Amino acid sequence: MRKYAVPLIMLIVFETVAVVLWQTKDNLFYLFNFSYIGISISLGAFLFIRKYQYARRIVQLLVGLYMMIYLGLIRGENMQIEGFWYYLFTGVFEAATIHYAVAKIFGPLIFGRGWCGYACWTAMVLDFLPYKVPEQPRRQLGWIRYITFAAALIFVAALFLAHVGNMERIMFRAFIIGNILYYASGIILAYAFKDNRAFCKYLCPVTVFLKPMSYYSLIRVKCDKEKCISCGKCRRVCPMNVDMTDNSRKRENGTECILCMECVKNCPKGAL
Ligand code: SF4
Ligand code: SF4
Ligand code: SF4
Repeated sequence: MRKYAVPLIMLIVFETVAVVLWQTKDNLFYLFNFSYIGISISLGAFLFIRKYQYARRIVQLLVGLYMMIYLGLIRGENMQIEGFWYYLFTGVFEAATIHYAVAKIFGPLIFGRGWCGYACWTAMVLDFLPYKVPEQPRRQLGWIRYITFAAALIFVAALFLAHVGNMERIMFRAFIIGNILYYASGIILAYAFKDNRAFCKYLCPVTVFLKPMSYYSLIRVKCDKEKCISCGKCRRVCPMNVDMTDNSRKRENGTECILCMECVKNCPKGAL
């Protein structure tokens, strides 16, 4: 049973959040929402342990499509970073603020950037592109994320300062336009840099939250130095350029790990 500890932990964490929010907010939606996400993620972790090749992609589609189509388009909730600022400024602990608190701010203390590997609807599409393993060296362009982060914050702050009416409608449109821009820039960058995850590495504003919190992540890939033969295969298959053979938290690109487990699958010695 020990090998199923991770899916079990994930299920317990999400069910706890589901029940606590259902009871405290007196809203059955939270029980459905977080149970669905928790079951999807735990199912993926379970399938991975059972060595099913497409385990991660199944979770990405189950969670990513649910969030983008059901929560975003059908329920009209802006789950992007603008939505987070919007709900935060209105003082409402709902939708995007809860989503960010769980998946992107406090959750990463437990599961690191699992969101990026298993649930993000932007990466869900980018991961279908041909450059699963980067074909060019990583560039020093991570500073761009702070500009996109500031732009989202300034956009929402300006709407509040200008006392613009019908904000809900504007936020819904911002969700659609924002997604189109994310997909377009993500696809262009992937082809330009021959790297599916270039958008995640350089542009994504959410990483401003994700990176510092995932530094302390409980769940992380570690290397058994006794077994490792330094063949370097793990580093060659990593989409995020992480040095997973270094066990320290300060390892190269350590806060970039999306827990995709490609390194673990490819290690010939089972050292990871
Ligand atoms: S870095 Fe951003 S775009 Fe990439 S997977 Fe994470 S949240 Fe999604
Ligand atoms: S693939 Fe395995 S054996 Fe090779 S360097 Fe990585 S951890 Fe060590
Ligand atoms: S290949 Fe390994 S180190 Fe790289 S992102 Fe995936 S799980 Fe993390």
